[in-house]
Amino acid sequence: MTKTTVVVIGAGIVGLSVAFEALQGGATVTIVDRDPAGDKASFGNAGGIAVTEVVPASVPGLWKKVPLWLLDPLGPLTLRIGHAPRMVPWLWNFARVGSPSEVARISKALASINSRVYDDLMPLFNTVGLGGDLFRKGALTVYETANGFLRDKHEWEAKRALGVEMKELSAREVRDMEPALGAIVQSGVFTPQWSHIADPKKVVDVLRLWLAANGAEILHGQVDRVYSTSEGAKVAMSGGTTLSAAKVVIAAGAWSAQLAQQLGDRVLLESERGYNTTIAAPGVMLEREVIFADRKFVATPLSVGLRIGGAAEFGGLQSPPNFKRSKALVKLAKLYLPGLRADGGSEWSGHRPATPDSLPVIGRSSVSMDIIYAFGHGHLGLTQGPTTGKIVGDLIFGRAQSLDLSPFSAARFSFRKGK
Ligand SMILES: Cc1cc2nc3c(=O)[nH]c(=O)nc-3n(C[C@H](O)[C@H](O)[C@H](O)COP(=O)(O)OP(=O)(O)OC[C@H]3O[C@@H](n4cnc5c(N)ncnc54)[C@H](O)[C@@H]3O)c2cc1C
Repeated sequence: MTKTTVVVIGAGIVGLSVAFEALQGGATVTIVDRDPAGDKASFGNAGGIAVTEVVPASVPGLWKKVPLWLLDPLGPLTLRIGHAPRMVPWLWNFARVGSPSEVARISKALASINSRVYDDLMPLFNTVGLGGDLFRKGALTVYETANGFLRDKHEWEAKRALGVEMKELSAREVRDMEPALGAIVQSGVFTPQWSHIADPKKVVDVLRLWLAANGAEILHGQVDRVYSTSEGAKVAMSGGTTLSAAKVVIAAGAWSAQLAQQLGDRVLLESERGYNTTIAAPGVMLEREVIFADRKFVATPLSVGLRIGGAAEFGGLQSPPNFKRSKALVKLAKLYLPGLRADGGSEWSGHRPATPDSLPVIGRSSVSMDIIYAFGHGHLGLTQGPTTGKIVGDLIFGRAQSLDLSPFSAARFSFRKGK
């Protein structure tokens, strides 16, 4: 029997997870990336398996907080002014999906993916030898006020209604769990379903090497265009090479919109740049990931050190990073972790592929059943990568889907050229 040929564009966590499923299903797999082993969002993220994050970024009332955030040049949200005009459709859509009914619809869709994350992630991790790299220790969200939980009450209630387990904690209970946290912390919420991994870079490296060792071809190269002909899907690479395949999967992270647009699917995708600093010898110990709700950043105890990160900077794919943000986050962390030794940290920044509704784009392109999208995972690409791989595997091999894919369709942006 002839094997299905699959080309996956992108060697980030999403593309590699798709390649894993395609290979497991018996396909001949080629992964194309301009820098397969190089830096990407999947490389330096916070390492959280954030299954409890089922509420989108755009929620009712958010707009009251945005002006304050924007006034602080190193605050949690930045919109680079030169890029703002290009973002109008994205921002308009972001505002539109912030209504209570849209938030309820989107949260349900996010929960439909997140509720099966471990079922898809564990077999992949165990198969490639990463089983010991997942720490199921939950996460702690901390507040600077005794009733911080009440401020975010609607969000927590929405999460609880979608199956998220949580326990409210007093300041003392928080410090019993994480003694490194200082007096600034007045309350917290423990979410046991969250987990974290040892090192995101190790995950993509181990997975890529496992795929290569098990028959996937990994090609270095820039993909210029994906198109469909009567003989199947084609991938045109810089330098003149054209690849043919029964199925092509676009999993190029924040760069995917350009390839989809050439196919006529104008999706709304922006780079949401995030920053962090990893401190190998931080002088403090955390048992689990801590989310600092008032200042919008996180700290994760990775095998490579304590990673302190966050920030959402919208400036397009070409703007240079501003590492003052990494430094500002470390300064904030010192408020919460009085014993933190911040010297010698390594700074990093990466492009989250962000859609306005916080939902990824997963599904067939509108021009061809053979060209499949898998991108736009925003803050949750590591969490949702293996599940996306499974869903795309089902599309590749024509298997029944256990999930309603309509919320994830590229068509939701209704921007198909010529319509
Ligand atoms: C600071 C920060 C913290 C984060 N923390 C978390 C977290 O705790 N948990 C979580 O779940 N998620 C987290 N995320 C989000 C997560 O990292 C991303 O959603 C995820 O890595 C996206 O993976 P990807 O495979 O889609 O894209 P990427 O990892 O960006 O990979 C895309 C690949 O496509 C290649 N490519 C692009 N265009 C082309 C082309 N034309 N030709 C050839 N190759 C191409 C690139 O070279 C790249 O290797 C975080 C992100 C950031 C920035």
